[in-house]
Amino acid sequence: MDLIIIGGGPIGIACGLEAKKKGVSYTIIEKGPIVNSLFNYPVNMQFFSSSERLEIDEIPFISKEAKPKRNEALEYYRRIVTSNQLNIRLFEKVGGIHRGDDGFTVQTSRGEYAARNVIIATGFYDLPNLLGVPGEDLPKVSHYYKDPHFYASQKLAVIGASNSAVDAALECWRKGADVTMIVRGPEIGQRVKYWVRPDILNRIEEGSIRAYYNSEVTRIDEESIEIRTPDGIRSLPNDFVLALTGYQPNFEFLEQAGIRLSDDAKRLPEYNPETMETNVPGLYLAGVICGGMETHKWFIENSRDHARLILDHIAGNMEAAALP
Ligand code: FAD
Repeated sequence: MDLIIIGGGPIGIACGLEAKKKGVSYTIIEKGPIVNSLFNYPVNMQFFSSSERLEIDEIPFISKEAKPKRNEALEYYRRIVTSNQLNIRLFEKVGGIHRGDDGFTVQTSRGEYAARNVIIATGFYDLPNLLGVPGEDLPKVSHYYKDPHFYASQKLAVIGASNSAVDAALECWRKGADVTMIVRGPEIGQRVKYWVRPDILNRIEEGSIRAYYNSEVTRIDEESIEIRTPDGIRSLPNDFVLALTGYQPNFEFLEQAGIRLSDDAKRLPEYNPETMETNVPGLYLAGVICGGMETHKWFIENSRDHARLILDHIAGNMEAAALP
């Protein structure tokens, strides 16, 4: 096979489409359902990008409102996979990539594949940034927010001040949860969607949602949480904790494949931005995984082009190799 694409998110799918167009034989391997990350987003989630910016391969994405909802995005990407009959293997997890003299061996939960090229498009939604405090492993703590109904009439602590935390705090409060936000910095994040930020600031100011700024959770117990605030340690009664403090790429997976990472806090993987090829020849990166710890840098709209860059390079190499 010419190409294995690891990850069936929007960008992995874009790579599959581009491979098909260019006559490059490929298989996409996805550990969950089609667009697994999007499937696991909050049920009522609305994208901050308008639908045309989420389009891949210029296939029109029509949504009711300018910014589509999760369900519309699932429909869009699912239809692309099924109507183009993309070659995708679902619920199969890649465990390792090994480079030999004759290309790569990709090991999965179901077997082994040989391929001349590999694209890693595994995103960053699998590994939450952990708080590292006692009690984080209690069942009442989650790093993923799904549905506000679950938290109705419950004391909910939302940790974080970015888009995910703010959306969860507002939605749960509107469905009857008693919400307290614990914010490490001095304010609600400046990158919060400009049409949502005034909403959360007003709810905090009127006292509907409590917020502790410059504060950190120091331990979580069954019926309370302990927080460190500028005024000292406080204990708050609590039923559930949503720790929405961001996510990070699987760096171990990248390093195991031989990809070099910058040794600063950004942990940027090494790749050529013109071809997306990493320091390992034939091994490419696509999508939001390229940003290392800077997970706010890449989105669908600015990483969908990776598919064309990579497949131009692979197809060019194949043509060159076929010349007499
Ligand atoms: P992903 O969509 O994360 O796809 C990676 C895939 O790889 C996943 O399906 C995963 O299951 C699979 N995978 C991982 N490891 C393995 C393995 N070992 N083996 C096999 N498969 C594996 N971006 C926008 O452009 N606009 C928005 O409005 C927007 N809103 C967002 C809202 C939220 C709440 C979040 C969390 C993110 C949002 N993003 C948005 C960012 C968006 O998620 C990404 O831009 C998009 O999902 C990136 O696509 P991707 O294909 O690079 O990665």
